[in-house]
Amino acid sequence: MRIVLLGAPGSGKGTQSQRLVEQQHIPQISTGDLLRAAVAQGTPLGVQAKEAMTAGRLVEDSIVLEMIRERLGEPDTGRGFILDGFPRNIAQARALDTLLEQIGQPLDVVVQLKVDYAELSRRIAGRRTCSDCDRVVNLLTTPRESLEQERCPVTGKPHRLFQRPDDNEATVAQRLRVYEQQTSPLIEYYAGQGLLRSIDAQGDVAEVSGRLTAVLPR
Ligand code: ADP
Repeated sequence: MRIVLLGAPGSGKGTQSQRLVEQQHIPQISTGDLLRAAVAQGTPLGVQAKEAMTAGRLVEDSIVLEMIRERLGEPDTGRGFILDGFPRNIAQARALDTLLEQIGQPLDVVVQLKVDYAELSRRIAGRRTCSDCDRVVNLLTTPRESLEQERCPVTGKPHRLFQRPDDNEATVAQRLRVYEQQTSPLIEYYAGQGLLRSIDAQGDVAEVSGRLTAVLPR
């Protein structure tokens, strides 16, 4: 199954992708994760991407498209994939259509995760990542005590949590604007192709996951 998850920053694309990975046995392809890895490794691409990411702008299409082209060429995508954070504007969506047509693997479904603005800001403010195992947790929904008791699978010690540098208030506001202006037109784009399913992505993770599974084609 070839799925695109569409939604604003903080709508739960990453969290729901991980559930889908387990359920559907297909890989998650997150351009945000790929870009952060490139930044961390200091590759030329990462150096170029860093400035835009820090400012909350989109990274240049050519960089992201090259990353996606390479990633989709790997053998684990044969049974499908979940695209998380890509495409993010109409030009990327068109390029994706062309690429998938070339490899004979058109999209099966695009799921829009709907969350209202106030909830998005709240979720992003509480988001933390473990520097050792990359697990993403939310301080709003996971009580401190249970986090302190949990052991990181990499170190065997408590998680070492940090806040993503682009999760600060000013950058978040900019990312939400970019979503409205550049990404939300994709809703119409995919509705026009008959691929769009929209779900209410508020409420707890398992509930949202149930709604998501219910709209996937069988
Ligand atoms: P979120 O969905 O919470 O904004 P991501 O991890 O998906 O977080 O993206 C973080 C940043 O990486 C974005 O603000 C943007 O700068 C860059 N980025 C990710 N995906 C793309 C993309 N498809 N095109 C351009 N830039 C991207």
